[in-house]
Amino acid sequence: MGSSVLIIYTGGTIGMKTDPSTGTLVPFDFNGIYDEFPSLRSLKVHIDVVSLDPIIDSSNVTPALWQHLAELIRDNYTRYDGFVILHGTDTMSYTASALSFLLENLSKAVVFTGSQIPIGVLRTDGRENLITAIEIAAARDGERSRVPEVSLYFQNRLFRANRTKKQSAEEFAAFRSYNYPALAEVGVNITYHREYIHYPSHPEADLRIATSLDDRILVVKLFPGIHEEMLRSMFSIEGLRGVVLETYGAGNAPTASGFIRTVREAVDRGIVVMNVTQCTGGKVAMELYETGRQLQEAGVICGYDITTEAAVAKLMYVLGQNLPPESTHRLLCRPLRGEFTSGDVA
Ligand code: ASP
Repeated sequence: MGSSVLIIYTGGTIGMKTDPSTGTLVPFDFNGIYDEFPSLRSLKVHIDVVSLDPIIDSSNVTPALWQHLAELIRDNYTRYDGFVILHGTDTMSYTASALSFLLENLSKAVVFTGSQIPIGVLRTDGRENLITAIEIAAARDGERSRVPEVSLYFQNRLFRANRTKKQSAEEFAAFRSYNYPALAEVGVNITYHREYIHYPSHPEADLRIATSLDDRILVVKLFPGIHEEMLRSMFSIEGLRGVVLETYGAGNAPTASGFIRTVREAVDRGIVVMNVTQCTGGKVAMELYETGRQLQEAGVICGYDITTEAAVAKLMYVLGQNLPPESTHRLLCRPLRGEFTSGDVA
C-alpha cells in the first residue's frame, strides 16, 4: 500500500502564486495541489492538506503555534505515515527545533520546508522543495519511516531540524547545518545517510507531546562594550527563568568582576544560563580559557555546539516541565534529540 502524508500549511513565501489576470501575488490553494502539480500523482502518495487559519508570516510565529502544530501531529499521527510542514523560512529553524522537543517518542517523519520564491512563480524553488519533502516524508523501509525525526529539507539537502540556521535571505540554499552532516542529499537520486539519522529505540512507543513551554527567557548577545548595568537589569527582569548567553568563540566572556558577579547572582537566584557561541561552527569549551572558566564556575551550563534557535526551544521545553533544579540541569546538559555534540556524548 502507498504511503500517506499530511501537509500542514502555516504560511510564508511558499504559499503564494501570481494571479495571471493582475500579476499580483495571491495565496496558493494547497487543497488543489494535484491540479497545480498533476505529476504528484506519480509519487503514489496519498496527500491531505490542512491549512492554518489564518496563515501567517513566520515572523509572527509564537510558542502557542508550536504547541498547536504538535497537537495537529498528535491528533493525526496514526492516520499518516509522515508529515510535511510548510513554513516561512524566517523562523523555520525555531519552529522545527521546538517540534523536535515537543514530539516525544517520534517514530515518523516530520519534514519542514518552504521556499525563497513563491511556489506559483516561474523560477520558484518551492516546487522541488515541496515534492521532495513529500517523497522523504512518505519514504519507508518496510513499516518503518526512513527518517523518523524532525527534519528540514531545503535545496537538495535534508538536515536534522534542530541543527539548522537560516543563513541567507537570498540564496536558494537558505539553510545550513554547520555542526552536523546532512541526513540526506538529493540529486538524481535521494541518498540517505543512515549513519546520521536517529532511529528510535522503542518505535512502538506512543507519541506524546509536551503541553507546556515556558517562554520567560531571553537571548543575550555579548559585544565589546556591553554595559554592565544594562546586563544587570536584563538579568534582574521579574519572572525571568532562563538566558541563552551568546558568548564569543569557544564560550568566552569578559572577566570583569562586575560581569561575572551579575551572571553568578542570576544563577544563584535560580535563573538558568546557557552558554552558546556566536560562531556558526565549533563548540563551547568553557574550560579552555580563563574567560570561559569563570562562567563555568558561576554555574553556567555548556551549550556545546547547539544553535541559538535550538537553545531557545530547548530552554522553553525543559523549563516548561517545572522540574527541580538538578533535573532541569541534567536535561539541559545532555542531548535530548541530537541537538548538540559534546566531546563525549554523541
Ligand atoms: N517572511 C517570510 C516568512 O518567513 C519569508 C519566507 O517564507 O521565506 O514567512
